[in-house]
Amino acid sequence: MRGYMRMSRLYAPTLKEDPAEAELASHRLLLRAGMIRREASGLYSYLPLAWRSIRKIEDIIRDEMEAIGAQEMEVPILTDGELWQQSGRWDDYGPELMRLTDRHDRSFALGPTHEETFTDLVRGELKSYRQLPVTLYQIQDKFRDELRPRFGLMRGREFIMKDAYSFSATQESLQECYEQEKAAYAKICERCCLRALPVAADSGQIGGDSSIEFMALADAGEAELVYCEACGFAADTEAATAVAAVGEGTVGELEKIHTPGAGSIADVAALLHVSKSATRKALALIDGGGRPTVCFVPGDHEMNDVKAHHAFGDYHLMSDEELASCSLVKGFIGPVGLPQGVRVCADASLRSSEWWLVGANEVDYHFLHARAGRDFSIGEWVDVITAKAKDRCPSCGAVLAGARGIEVSQVFQLGTKYSKSLGATFTDESGHERPFLMGCYGIGVSRTLAAIVEQHHDEHGIIWPVSVTPFEVEIIALDVDDELVWPVAQDIAEGLVRAGVEVVVDDRTERPGVKFNDADLMGFPYQIVCGARGLKKGVVELKHRAGGERQELPVGEAVERVAQLVAAGRK
Ligand code: ATP
Ligand code: MG
Repeated sequence: MRGYMRMSRLYAPTLKEDPAEAELASHRLLLRAGMIRREASGLYSYLPLAWRSIRKIEDIIRDEMEAIGAQEMEVPILTDGELWQQSGRWDDYGPELMRLTDRHDRSFALGPTHEETFTDLVRGELKSYRQLPVTLYQIQDKFRDELRPRFGLMRGREFIMKDAYSFSATQESLQECYEQEKAAYAKICERCCLRALPVAADSGQIGGDSSIEFMALADAGEAELVYCEACGFAADTEAATAVAAVGEGTVGELEKIHTPGAGSIADVAALLHVSKSATRKALALIDGGGRPTVCFVPGDHEMNDVKAHHAFGDYHLMSDEELASCSLVKGFIGPVGLPQGVRVCADASLRSSEWWLVGANEVDYHFLHARAGRDFSIGEWVDVITAKAKDRCPSCGAVLAGARGIEVSQVFQLGTKYSKSLGATFTDESGHERPFLMGCYGIGVSRTLAAIVEQHHDEHGIIWPVSVTPFEVEIIALDVDDELVWPVAQDIAEGLVRAGVEVVVDDRTERPGVKFNDADLMGFPYQIVCGARGLKKGVVELKHRAGGERQELPVGEAVERVAQLVAAGRK
């Protein structure tokens, strides 16, 4: 039988002060609780407590992969440069790929992801459609020479990833593998107690998604999201085709008004006492084909660079010289009376708007009551704005909420990208050679750990969900030298261990305050306080780390009660 851990032996060097380099709560708390240590930029050691949580996350993943028939295996971390050449990624991957050369002058890379290796592995081995589909996966360290490694485990240069690859004979089969992985990923988040949204990773894909990112909601997240409580739609603001709630201008004859110095949306809105959304922002740019272009967006929205590249190709915003040479008046551009030869576009959200408040293409003047179709026309409708909270859901029309997210995992339909370039084929039912249809599915295991802490902490420390906690119960033995205390603490610890509970006992001769603080910092879900005062009455105190509730338990009931609580909390 396993024993319990003694705090006096546990290798968890805690920090009294907040480490200066840690901006995020997860980074700070994992360092302070003695769970991780930085070795170099983007490189961390997982100390015993973190490692126990990592193993639990991995086991949850294994369990869900097993349930859908994915097979665990492992390939070398070191990958052959030749394969990267074949797929074209030796050049495409850029400086993030950590490259090295062996003594025979052959090129290798430390795997940042393993599409090439797995495709190479099955080529020539999986020969017939009868053997398909197959999904293989591993849980392994990955290497990426990130431009800005930061936030501790969130963005490391070496990190743990679970990566799976599916090989299918048909699109339907790929779709099925993809849906299974997606469902498994949702379950994994749930079992890790991560509140995460599945977010379409690419926009404009009609007829189903081909890539979903699972975003753990957290203020510290790098991604900005919009989501719909009503229908479940969620997207990155940069990819979402949300419908902006556009304000209308006022109705009337076209009227030119003096707006001295009002060359920005904020100025115009303030001067005329209208909302920003009732105004129109004009972006002057040179499109990929070299054509001067003006694009109108609702005054309270931004044009988004990624979408603008889809719409305009390799565009750039006009410089002052370019504006002047096109006779465009900075700050006062509008759709009425634009110079000849200018490509006139507007965001599709403005399509149903009839009355516009716009620049008059003249310094210090705007037009009121510019009417679409009467006073101006738009040549092309494009999708270029960054969505934001309060826009409308493109699926159901409800009002969208905003949030920030941490990408913890991604599922992706690759199609034949790698099987074609690496020549990985099978024979289909009618005897034809075809490239595999592939999917790839990645979970950041170490990032998931950080995301869990990001969602589960307070000012005192981490609040571990039972499913991923390093230890389930901490027994705080106060006055360890008291003849009553230690035997009881030990008895309860042994009883819990016998009941299959993971226990650490604080057996140090520290002051109670130090022990309580460390217990809250490390954040195991249940604390049992054994002190001489309580024991004289025959009770110990149980504290729930999450809600802070305390209750007294008769010594004789402690093991059973706590073991039940723990069992109920496991997922
Ligand atoms: P990001 O956009 O955050 O750089 P990515 O989209 O490049 O991530 P993927 O290639 O999709 O990452 O990798 C799968 C998963 O691996 C991610 O969802 C994330 O959880 C994790 N991951 C990626 N890069 C890192 C990193 N530098 N440190 C820790 N985890 C990472
Ligand atoms: Mg990704």
